[in-house]
Amino acid sequence: PLASNEPGRPWRLGVMGGTFDPIHHGHLVAGSEVAAKFGLDEVVFVPTGTPWQKKNRVVSPAEDRYLMTVIATASNPKFTVSRVDIERPGDTYTVDTLKDLHAQRGTETDLYFITGADALASILTWHGADELFELAHFIGCSRPGVPLDERDISHLPADKVTLMEVPALAISSTDCRERVAEGLPIWYLVPDGIVQHINKRGLYRGGSSPEPKEP
Ligand code: ATP
Ligand code: MG
Repeated sequence: PLASNEPGRPWRLGVMGGTFDPIHHGHLVAGSEVAAKFGLDEVVFVPTGTPWQKKNRVVSPAEDRYLMTVIATASNPKFTVSRVDIERPGDTYTVDTLKDLHAQRGTETDLYFITGADALASILTWHGADELFELAHFIGCSRPGVPLDERDISHLPADKVTLMEVPALAISSTDCRERVAEGLPIWYLVPDGIVQHINKRGLYRGGSSPEPKEP
């Protein structure tokens, strides 16, 4: 995809960053809903490298999280996956993700960063926060159990932030991992191919993460 439908209109690129350990239908519905509401041409899912906010738990190998993201998004023509965060050494910061995507895609691209509303409320604590709003528009999706409150984002620039309710999907990666560890099903919480990949690789079974895959 190199040009948008209307000549001269910038390519509208949704950016969904996440650990995706594993990717689930909450992520996919959020990407789809935001794409419809904002007329996005593409939504790129960007699995994190080292998740600096999640150092208190073992995160699955980046290649497993990348593969699961590819498997889950393959059937949607508007969904793509980027390796920028996986391939950048060091911790993953959203400001670097947005800069790398701008550098790759050129100036005729408008970025729409999609995030949970809970994460959005704490955005000013993110690394490089002062630059973030120059790089992208931010869309905060409501998530079940976290009520949407305009006051939570009143400290953010109004023209750069939009709150949006996505159909209430009480799905989280944490719950999916706990279900697998307890032997409970995750069918229909995640795409079928993700259930298969988790089984094939033995993810989330014990307390520890499997070794990275042999080439
Ligand atoms: P974990 O439970 O490990 O924190 P998660 O389910 O929150 O995982 P992440 O990979 O941390 O998944 O989330 C990536 C992005 O998707 C974040 O911006 C998060 O707020 C958002 N998100 C997560 N779950 C949902 C959901 N059910 N609906 C909408 N957005 C979601
Ligand atoms: Mg999360």
